[in-house]
Amino acid sequence: MAYLKTPGLVLRNLNYKEADKLLTVYTLEYGKVPAVAKGVRKVKSSMRGGIQLFSHSDFVFYHGRSLDTVTQCAVIEPFPQLRSDLDRFAFAAYFAELALESVPEREANPDIFYLLLTCLHLLVTHDPELVTRLFEVRLMNVLGYAPELTNCLYCGAEVKGRMRFSLQDGGLVCTDCAPEAAKLVYISPGAAANLKALSTMDLDKCGRIRLSTALRQELAALLSQYIETQLEREFKSRAFLDSLNQV
Ligand SMILES: [Zn+2]
Repeated sequence: MAYLKTPGLVLRNLNYKEADKLLTVYTLEYGKVPAVAKGVRKVKSSMRGGIQLFSHSDFVFYHGRSLDTVTQCAVIEPFPQLRSDLDRFAFAAYFAELALESVPEREANPDIFYLLLTCLHLLVTHDPELVTRLFEVRLMNVLGYAPELTNCLYCGAEVKGRMRFSLQDGGLVCTDCAPEAAKLVYISPGAAANLKALSTMDLDKCGRIRLSTALRQELAALLSQYIETQLEREFKSRAFLDSLNQV
């Protein structure tokens, strides 16, 4: 299998040597694939459209010893709005970093591919902040970090009154179990309910969710802390996003 044919999403695109690009493509069939696209910075290259950042394209890779080489690339959807609008670009860059940093190379996961593809679509047409919360929740679910949002994660009792959330163990904690829990934060009932909705709803129905400013801020902070705790790293593109939103 020297040649690999698959649809993919270009999640990283860096200049390389004189006329080449180094890409990281999240593919449907082979997961995260690093590849070089040769000569694509020359005007006459037919692959220029398909290798642009965030493009959804049909790829053929030659599978090399260290790095794959893109031998064919035909664009399916170029998503130009994600490159021309700075806000949307920043959100898409965050999706890309989150996905790329949380998976090993060459391990197929069609759920991640379709989640990325759908959320890039939604980013063009919907409230980008809401789509980002949706992407965060669903990526964590796909990666196996779905939080417990109904009962106490330790004793299984219904959580009443003041709600706490364990960033470390991933879920709600009741008052009785709180002294035993690690990395606890308070969570409002509204935030818990919306997390549950984001986690189970049809992706294309996310436009139906309406959040107050307070809830938006709470969910953004909670998910950011939860992701950093679970994946044990910070995300550069996230810091950039936050800096844009503070202006
Ligand atoms: Zn408990």
